[in-house]
Formats: sequence, C-alpha cells, structure tokens
Amino acid sequence: MPEENQNGDVETFAFQAEIAQLMSLIINTFYSNKEIFLRELISNSSDALDKIRYESLTNPSRLDSGKELYIKIIPNKNDGTLTIIDTGIGMTKADLVNNLGTIAKSGTKAFMEALQAGADISMIGQFGVGFYSAYLVADKVTVVSKNNDDEQYVWESSAGGSFTVTQDRGEPLGRGTKIVLHMKEDQTEFLEEHKIKEIVKKHSQFIGYPIKLVVEKEREKELSDDEAEEEKKEEEGEDKDKDKPKIEDVGEDEDEDTKKEDKKKKKTIKEKYTEDEELNKTKPIWTRNADDISQEEYGEFYKSLTNDWEDHLAVKHFSVEGQLEFRALLFVPRRVPFDLFENKKRKNNIKLYVRRVFIMDNCEELIPEYLNFIKGVVDSEDLPLNISREMLQQNKILKVIRKNLVKKCLELFEELAEDKDGYKKFYEQFSKNIKLGIHEDSQNRAKLSELLRYHTSASGDEACSLKDYVSRIKPNQKHIYYITGESKEQVANSSFVERVKKRGFEVVYMTEPIDEYVVQQMKEFDGKTLVSVTKEGLELPEDEEEKKKREEDKAKFEGLCKVMKSILDNKVEKVVVSNRLVESPCCIVTSQYGWTANMERIMKAQALRDTSTMGYMAAKKHLEINPDHSIIENLRQKAEADKNDKAVKDLVILLFETALLSSGFTLDEPQVHASRIYRMIKLGLGIDEEEAMITEDAQGGDAPSADAAESEDASRMEEVD
Ligand code: ADP
Repeated sequence: MPEENQNGDVETFAFQAEIAQLMSLIINTFYSNKEIFLRELISNSSDALDKIRYESLTNPSRLDSGKELYIKIIPNKNDGTLTIIDTGIGMTKADLVNNLGTIAKSGTKAFMEALQAGADISMIGQFGVGFYSAYLVADKVTVVSKNNDDEQYVWESSAGGSFTVTQDRGEPLGRGTKIVLHMKEDQTEFLEEHKIKEIVKKHSQFIGYPIKLVVEKEREKELSDDEAEEEKKEEEGEDKDKDKPKIEDVGEDEDEDTKKEDKKKKKTIKEKYTEDEELNKTKPIWTRNADDISQEEYGEFYKSLTNDWEDHLAVKHFSVEGQLEFRALLFVPRRVPFDLFENKKRKNNIKLYVRRVFIMDNCEELIPEYLNFIKGVVDSEDLPLNISREMLQQNKILKVIRKNLVKKCLELFEELAEDKDGYKKFYEQFSKNIKLGIHEDSQNRAKLSELLRYHTSASGDEACSLKDYVSRIKPNQKHIYYITGESKEQVANSSFVERVKKRGFEVVYMTEPIDEYVVQQMKEFDGKTLVSVTKEGLELPEDEEEKKKREEDKAKFEGLCKVMKSILDNKVEKVVVSNRLVESPCCIVTSQYGWTANMERIMKAQALRDTSTMGYMAAKKHLEINPDHSIIENLRQKAEADKNDKAVKDLVILLFETALLSSGFTLDEPQVHASRIYRMIKLGLGIDEEEAMITEDAQGGDAPSADAAESEDASRMEEVD
C-alpha cells in the first residue's frame, strides 16, 4: 500500500516479492558481463518507439507531442550518471507502478529458476525483466516518463524493496521516457564515450531508430576583445565550468605591435561543446545483398532482434519479386523459448515492416501458429503504411506473403535435415511444432511428414524417417505399422508388437501425446496407409496355411468367445480370435475410429476438459484371444464342460482386467482388480476360499465373491455406453 510522506505527492510502493528477490539477486550476484544493461534499456526504448509508431499509423495526432522518434544516450561524468532518453510511448503513472515493480510476470520466477540452474544473467531479456538489469551498474535509477494520456511522473528506486512515484513538475519531456542511472562508483567506465560506442555497436547496431550519443567536442573559436575579457573574468571568478569555452592566448611571443593590431582576431578560445553522434547508421540488414553478409552479422542481428544470448541455428534470407515484392529474413533459434506453448501467449516472432518502416510485431496473419518459433522480419513494398490489424486479416498481399514464408521455412527445415546431427538438435526442440503442422496444415502435410523422425522396431538407437521405413518395407507389405504409447520401452514390449515383429514387419513407435493427433490426420505416407497394431482389423499378410488355421481356430473357439462376451457383457464390443498374439493369452484392441488406449489416457489426463466426449469417443474395446495359448485352450475346455462355471467367470474377468493393463489402459477401480488377484493368490497357496466368502457374506453381501466383484465393476469399469 502506498504511503504519502510530507511532500504530499510522493507515493512509496513495495516491490512485489519476486521482483524484490530478483533485484537483490542482480545486485548481489558476482557477474562481470554487466554491459548488457545498455542493450536491455535500448531494447525497451525501441519497443516503446514501436508502440507509438503503431498508434500513429491509425491516429497521426498521437505524434503531436513530438514527431521525431529516437533514442539518446547522455553520459555525465560530473554527476556520475548515464541517461537514456526515448521519444517512445512513455508510461502513465499506472504503467510505472505496474510495469516497474508491482506486477510480476511469469518470467520473473522463471528467470530466477534459470539462474539457479546455471543460466547467465545476460539471458535476462528473454524472460521479459530486462529493465532490472539497470541495477547491475546503478545503485539508484530514476525514470521520468510522459505518456500522451497522463501527466509526467518520476519513478525512483535505490532497490531495497521499495520505489517511489511522484508527479514531475520539472522539465517536460513532451513524450517518452528518460532513464537516469546513478552509476555505482566502480562502474564509471560506462560513462566513457568509446565504451558506450563499443557496446552499442556490439549489441544494438540493428535497432531501427537512431541511437544518438551526446559526445563532447572541442573547437577553436575566435573571440572579440570584449567577449574575451568577459570570458576571462568568468573563468577566474566562478568555478571552472566544463561546458564553458576555455580561453587560451595564442601568439604570445610575437612582437607587441602586431599583437596589438591583430588582437581582435587572435584571441581564440578552445571551446567545448556537445554534439549528437548517431551510432547505428547501418542499413537494415535484410535490405542488403545476402552474399555480402557474414554469418557473424546474421548472428548479431538475430541476437539484437530476439534478445537471445546465443546465435541462431539456421537462417533464410530471401526476396520475392514480380507481382508482389518483399524481403524476408527468417531464423530458427537453438531452443524453444520458455513460454512457447504457454496459454494465450500465441505470439509469433515476425516483425512486419513496410518499405523499411516498422509496422508491428506479432502479426498473426503472417505465419501459421505451428511456426511461431521462427523469428525474423518481413519487409513489404506493397502494403500501405497505415495498415491496421483489422485490415491485415483480409489482406490478399499478406496471404501471399504467408504462403511464401511457410514454403521457405519448409525449405529451411529440409536443408537442416541434410545434416543428421544438426537436424537432431532441431528436432529435439521443435518436433512438436512439426507435428502440430501436420495436424493443422493440410496443404503442406506431405512435406511436413517427411520431416518426422521416429524410433521403430528396426531403427536401433537412432530415430529414422518414414522414408527410411518405406525403403525397408517387405515386398508383400502394404501398410506402415505403428503403435502409440507412453514410452519407447512400453510399446516395444507390448503384446501388440509381438506378432508383427515376429512376422518380420517393422513397427513405428509413437510415444508423444501429439502423435495421436498426427496419425489422425496423416492417413498415409508415400502411398502406404498407416495402420495401428492396437486397433481392430489388423490384417497381417498371411499364406494359405495360415489362413486355413485361422478359419479352424475361429470355429473351434466360437463357443468360448460367446461365453466370454456374455460374462464381460458391455465392457467389450466383441470377443474374437486373434492372429496378432504370440506370448500373451489375450489383448484389447480398439475400433478403427475410436480412441486408442494411449489417446484415452491422454484425454483422461486433461483435467477440466469437457467430459461429455468421454462417453462416445472413449476407446471401443474388442477382446482378442490367442488360440495357441494354453490358458485360452484350458478355458475353452472348462467352458465347454460347464458354461456357468463360477471359476470360468472369475478367470475371464481377471484375464480381461489384466489385458486392459497390458494393452495400455488404466483401471478405474484398481482395488477391485487387486482383491481378485489376492483371491487367486490364496487359491494358489491353498488357503480356504470358503472362509473368505463367509466373512464377506456376513457383511451383508448375498452373492458369491466373484459375482459381487463383477457386478461392482460392471458399472465402475465401464466408460463405454
Ligand atoms: P520487457 O521489456 O521485456 O517487457 P522489462 O522489465 O524490460 O520487460 O520492462 C517492463 C515493462 O516496462 C515493459 O514491458 C514496458 O511496458 C515498460 N517499459 C520499460 N521501459 C520502457 C520505456 N523506455 N518506455 C516505455 N515503457 C517502458
């Protein structure tokens, strides 16, 4: 809560706890690369300038408070201050209070955690808390700011947990922000001209607004007698003001006469004066010829564009000419940013320029969501300068640009894929985006699917492409077999993969949740349909003998299938004889169009989702039995002898539940399953089952234990209506 002190309008605020913590971390951590503070403050100024420019596109009067857009740096050795001024959008009082201290962003905590995990302070800009880097070099920071919609205010803090905000009746800024850094005693090197020039060149040369450094210069100036006298007096009398011209007599050893004659001309002074020197005169890099740009330059530009601390992984620089003209520079970063898939923050990272003038960030129409990790700039020759977000949505030019950007991105990924190790790094970071693309972008689905990499039953330690899979395909094989699941180990050992593998076919292991969505859309690859080994109707190519055997098995086990279906009732859609099992007695497959076990697991894990789809989408289960398995053969005999045999009932349910588990489903009531297992253990140990039944009866149950458990879980285990 703000308190007022005797001045009346000074309000003191406490920093939000995490911000206070971050500030003391910045102040107390030993860190030598302090120069990055300037990059951060300049980058904030540049953002503020972008904002006012954008406002002015639709409302030119917003620039009535000042038309010139620039950043100015003023070192002052006398006062030990470094001042950074911009004519950007400025902050209202509320902005100062909220943005600089009371509202923490997700990045505040994320950055501290990253630091703890060994990150470097220079990464601060990525986390959106760059302003506080001012405290690397300053012990006090004063921010004067003027927004069109408010009066001028001063924010000030020497850290220590609090800051003040006061209305400023001092010199008006017009519009924008002035940040005065009161430098720590040991940080005055940042007041040196050459140092500032060096830092700006290194980190901020690509900023799109002029960065002017106020430099001190000296020139000789001739004075008339009177002026000279005055100057001399002033110099002797008052303090030697550095900004005032200094007087120096010249030609002292000339003879008196000439001296007298020339007195008026020869009185000259060395005058100190200041001048603005523009530090970033380089042409925008994307307008230059790609052949003349070094990788280092691209790297520097990328870093200044993105606040990244590392170079990019790959870059594409191109221009499109003809009916429509634009240039673009696209970068693939090395890492996923910490907030790429954060809710609602669907930012993309392409800056839109029109004829070299920055228009806006985050133009949604420019690039599809799945490519939101691509960073860069697009500069159009054709769009109108005063284009608004609303107009962009309908814009045809933009649609063409977007199509081209996607095409170039895919080219870039294909190039990356040529280098196996490089591509691995890319894929680790961005495979989710590629997969999202397969789901969303039907036009480019085929191209994108070539970029996929999976482990398979034949790929060993390295993941391979579907193209590799197809190159190994058996002559009689028409499909690409795949399985989805939680992990490589789990799917590799599943009973579904057994038979397919045993028959010599390769199975693709898909182990990311998003793969379920991928296969929903990507129905085929290179003319081969994708077939799930966990769904019904898996038909492995078989010879005459195998076919004959299957027909026989079908007839032989028809009775058992019927008995099992009647015991399991609506827990399963049907019970059939399988040709996909080798070691396991049975498995649960799902219908062609319902969810797989893996999908059901993923959907259940999504808390708060609408549960109404659960009913009809939940996996429709088919129980497949292995005719060659001794348990099944034994059951068949028992059921044929007496189809109402209680033991058969109990065993069938037990088999079903176990198959659920091994097929990747979860049990809704694991304890019911557990008690069934305990009963079997008792049986195995020869403990009298009657005793257990008596106790259960005494508790009010009148059905035998197996039936009781069965009717209980008939409702509990049921997800399918
Ligand atoms: P970021 O700039 O990444 O959002 P910062 O901690 O650097 O994070 O700045 C916090 C906020 O303060 C900015 O988002 C912006 O709203 C405001 N701000 C900082 N510097 C300026 C400036 N020079 N002009 C206007 N607003 C600024």
